[in-house]
Amino acid sequence: MKALVFQGPGQKDWIEKDKPTIQKPTDVIVKISKTTICGTDLHILKGDVPTVTPGRTLGHEGVGIVEEVGDAVVNFKTGDTVLISCVTSCGKCANCKRSLYAHCADGGWILGHTIDGTQAEYVRIPHADHSLHPIPAGADEEALVMLSDILPTGFEIGVQYGHVKPGDTIAVVGAGPVGMSVLLTSQFLSPGRIIMIDMDPARLELARQFGATDTIQVGAEDVVARIMEMTHGKGVDVAIEAVGVPATFDTCQKIVAAGGNIANVGVHGKPVELHIEELWIKNINISMGLVNTNTTPMLLKTLGNARVDPAKLITHRFALDEMMKAYEVFGNAAREKAMKVILSA
Ligand code: NAD
Ligand code: ZN
Repeated sequence: MKALVFQGPGQKDWIEKDKPTIQKPTDVIVKISKTTICGTDLHILKGDVPTVTPGRTLGHEGVGIVEEVGDAVVNFKTGDTVLISCVTSCGKCANCKRSLYAHCADGGWILGHTIDGTQAEYVRIPHADHSLHPIPAGADEEALVMLSDILPTGFEIGVQYGHVKPGDTIAVVGAGPVGMSVLLTSQFLSPGRIIMIDMDPARLELARQFGATDTIQVGAEDVVARIMEMTHGKGVDVAIEAVGVPATFDTCQKIVAAGGNIANVGVHGKPVELHIEELWIKNINISMGLVNTNTTPMLLKTLGNARVDPAKLITHRFALDEMMKAYEVFGNAAREKAMKVILSA
């Protein structure tokens, strides 16, 4: 079969590789119908994730058809169409019982990380009963793939951890696929105002189409001054960081209102400066973490909601064997005006 293989920092190839086989009775082999490229794959390619070693097939988002089933699998059979969760989990260990699937004693984020991932013709899914999801009849497969990672990430780590409530004023720093997923899923909670912040005017324009009430362009405008003007000097109820650099976390600390929440979604490669002296006096809660995908079953039920349609995030479509071309486009997202690229077998 063909697979996108990490060959060391800066190097990748779409090459022939052995088709995966069942290794444990709880495994399923899935034939990929749709997969995507995620910002995390670009981090890996840069060499920012040293736990990913050369030879690894990348990718952790996908939809496919069950090809082969291990003897202990009870929820799936050959021929079923399934959604693959970016986090594989046993569902039985102490952490899984607390819905901390990202910290499963025998799983977590391992697809395209410590085991081979979804950017291939076939993938092996461990603990398939708990790591795959049956899909609703007639579901749009393109929308579904957004539920492997980015939609639950935006909802769990941005909206839920940020305790977004009806009527709140929220600000999302970063209008990439993850920030946009926060924007879309926050609308389930009816915030009064959603302010999207980014330096890319094309992304801010898309954000307005997806339901942002206000946008602020970094570089062209003073973000903190604009927020204070919009909120009569109070700040925002929830500030959500969806970039992963010290400057954007700093912005969140400056724009959050007294009693508010900062929800950090971005993956930080460097330490950030924490202004306890200012946050303490404002009674601020800070949260952060890895997506657990424990809201995927709930998000599956929302598919078909036109206002929060995650398929809106897809800007480019390729055939699976155009993987290298898709990386070229996604790797130059600003130039190509790309948000989410999808590959179909
Ligand atoms: P992305 O790179 O596609 O988008 C980031 C956006 O931030 C871009 O639109 C960019 O223009 C904007 N940006 C960059 N610098 C900025 C600044 N100084 N001020 C305002 N905007 C700025 O990334 P993405 O795929 O949307 O992911 C966002 C973050 O979420 C990444 O750090 C990613 O690793 C992380 N992530 C976290 C989890 C989790 O489990 N918590 C899961 C998936 C992704
Ligand atoms: Zn577990």
